[in-house]
Amino acid sequence: MTSPAFRFAPSPNGYLHIGHALSALLNARAAVALEGRLLVRVEDIDQTRCTPQLEAEMFKDLAWLGIPLEEPFLRQSKNFPHYRSALEKLQDLGLVYPAYLTRAEIKRFVSDYEASGKSWPRDPDGAPVYPGDDAVLSDAERKTRADSDAPFALRLDMKKALEKVGQELVWSEVGAEGKTLFASPRPVPVDASAWGDVVLARKDTPTSYHLSVVVDDARQGITDVLRGKDLYPATSVHRILQELLGLPQPRYRHHRLVLDEDGRKLSKSTHATSLRSLRENGLTHVQLRNLIGL
Ligand code: GLU
Repeated sequence: MTSPAFRFAPSPNGYLHIGHALSALLNARAAVALEGRLLVRVEDIDQTRCTPQLEAEMFKDLAWLGIPLEEPFLRQSKNFPHYRSALEKLQDLGLVYPAYLTRAEIKRFVSDYEASGKSWPRDPDGAPVYPGDDAVLSDAERKTRADSDAPFALRLDMKKALEKVGQELVWSEVGAEGKTLFASPRPVPVDASAWGDVVLARKDTPTSYHLSVVVDDARQGITDVLRGKDLYPATSVHRILQELLGLPQPRYRHHRLVLDEDGRKLSKSTHATSLRSLRENGLTHVQLRNLIGL
């Protein structure tokens, strides 16, 4: 068996919080327990929100946590050509289309639709499922936008993608902590129907989270993806993309989340739980581990 490779893949678009500490420490522990490696990936495709200052703080956080960092790191902003060629492969399969509705137009469509008392489906991230350009725009308007410089997103035609991969797709899920790390993988049926046509790239950004994560897991030779349960539903999208792109499938391990007092997922904008403020306020490692139940 090849030696396991784990990764910690934070986005420096805000300060890391104690939920990220749990993820980083669980990855480090699992890599040691399974005699594998831990690679770091800087997920900085959003060049408007990711800054060098936030990235520097992120590396200070990881050093403070005592996470061993194997260099070189993979930096997504330097990898755009790889995402572009994956996108072209999906385009060649006829599975990608340009979608012209703006966020405001989608919002208006959904609120008009819901005014009659019905509800419009949301994806697992809470965003409205894409209604399709023809639900909102006339044929003439669609043509005008296609012929002009209008902004667009490149979306995966999920219905066609599911037809292409067949219905029997599964991913392998294993436990993330303690003894469950060594358990046998359990097959989880892929269910991407709730996502609708996910975004793969935009006019000015040649990739999206879903596309770059599968390309990079393969490029880094990741065998074990260990990440928060909030990304569990996204794994269906990732398995479909791996299948379409002919990429190997890692094992997946989704860990518990650290929640706030109201039972909500922590956010990068809540400074009280940022690792930066905790380390600057002198929190010890023991106190941190108590906070995250390790
Ligand atoms: N960059 C993502 C985040 O910070 C993690 C992606 C992943 O682990 O697949 O939430």
